[in-house]
Amino acid sequence: MVPLRLFDTYERKIREFKPLKPGEVGLYACGPTVYNYAHIGNLRTYVFEDILRRVLEFNGFEVNHVVNITDVGHLTSDADTGEDKMEVGARRTGMTAWELADFYGDAFKHDLERLNARPPVTWCKATDHIEEQIEFVQDLENKGYTYRTNDGIYFNSRKLNNYGYLARLDVEGLQAGARVELGERQYVTDFALWKFSDPAKKRQMEWDSPWGTGFPGWHIECSAMSAKYLGDLFDIHCGGEDHIPIHHTNEIAQTEASKGTRLANFWMHGYFLQFDNAKMAKSSEDFIRLETLVEEGFSTLDYRYYCLTAHYRSQMSFSLESLQASSVALARLRQSAYEWGEPGEISNEYLERFVSYINDDLNMPRALAVAWEMIRSDVADDVKKATLLKFDDVLGLDIATWHPDEIEIPEDVMGLVEDRERARREKNWQRADELRDAIAKYGYIIEDTGKGPKLSR
Ligand code: AMP
Ligand code: ZN
Repeated sequence: MVPLRLFDTYERKIREFKPLKPGEVGLYACGPTVYNYAHIGNLRTYVFEDILRRVLEFNGFEVNHVVNITDVGHLTSDADTGEDKMEVGARRTGMTAWELADFYGDAFKHDLERLNARPPVTWCKATDHIEEQIEFVQDLENKGYTYRTNDGIYFNSRKLNNYGYLARLDVEGLQAGARVELGERQYVTDFALWKFSDPAKKRQMEWDSPWGTGFPGWHIECSAMSAKYLGDLFDIHCGGEDHIPIHHTNEIAQTEASKGTRLANFWMHGYFLQFDNAKMAKSSEDFIRLETLVEEGFSTLDYRYYCLTAHYRSQMSFSLESLQASSVALARLRQSAYEWGEPGEISNEYLERFVSYINDDLNMPRALAVAWEMIRSDVADDVKKATLLKFDDVLGLDIATWHPDEIEIPEDVMGLVEDRERARREKNWQRADELRDAIAKYGYIIEDTGKGPKLSR
């Protein structure tokens, strides 16, 4: 089997992956900020991380996968000003910040489940690890990396020689060109480790600390929790590309100052799913959720398949047309596999080619192309079936369990459905409604979806 090679953002190159401890991989992924539902852009990043996890497992590694839940400290501005997103979310919904965290945390886990993402070994919440974060900040204070302002304890980014290396930041240039309000921060790249509660406003989430009542900065939670569950240096840390210049840069700074390591041996980043801004902002009213796609008549795994059609290191522009194409492809894949019947032997030739692509920095579009080439080849059906099932350990498309819907629709009803489609095309809504009622008399409910009419009993 060709060895696994992965792109490391820290070194900006593809390297052979060798775990720090034989056979085991420590994997930390930055989790969601749970003040709202996840949008499909967020979920693209978690599908990428699930593929990474599955490819590692396919290579025989045991993966200790940790994902955090950010339920405090993520402010509306990355410059460490503005309000806590959780407090804003609480106001928006009328829930308490704690209820909000539980509600959207559960919704997120449910989305992952529906995308067939393997659940992490450990979920950890920032608010469950306040003590660890305070200890981390104390250690940074003892080592001389902090200073105090009126609104909090800050990390002095100039104390580190290579602050910003991950993002290749031009620290001097940033400082010179800083148009942002520095406040009491000394450098634009300095960031909050602990923020004091505003005495004028009662916060729902706040804790005592050696420096005063307040709450942890956003970055410290990941340094503290990853150290607790995976140690001071572990194998892979991942997140979306937006984390490179700020969040991950600051996680590395804290850990380097406290523990002397670069935190992770590999830094991996999923590139963005693009849409128009409003539809991809969790803070806006109508962003696209997984549920939105379901309402349009797609299945959640249609979206998973769609994510596999692009390399994780290239941006994707979302369109319903390409999702539609993925939906058709997935349906064909499953239908074929269903018709092949029982599995036989695996084709080593196709398996090797598939592995050569997944191990080449998770090249899923090429790996899918191998699957399609095999499907169209003259390999025996039972071999195709066994090989595709093996591929599905990584693809995660439910090939083994899928079967066609069993409802058989009587011809009379099909005739009514066709008449109704014609009436709808002619914008004869009254006739369309009468036909809907006629269909209902046969015991079928008709639903109009992005993919045409759908019948259920
Ligand atoms: P958040 O809940 O905002 O903390 O983000 C959760 C994850 O989604 C992070 O890893 C982000 O980097 C990632 N993310 C945010 N927006 C997008 C997007 N449009 N496409 C892909 N990933 C994203
Ligand atoms: Zn993080």
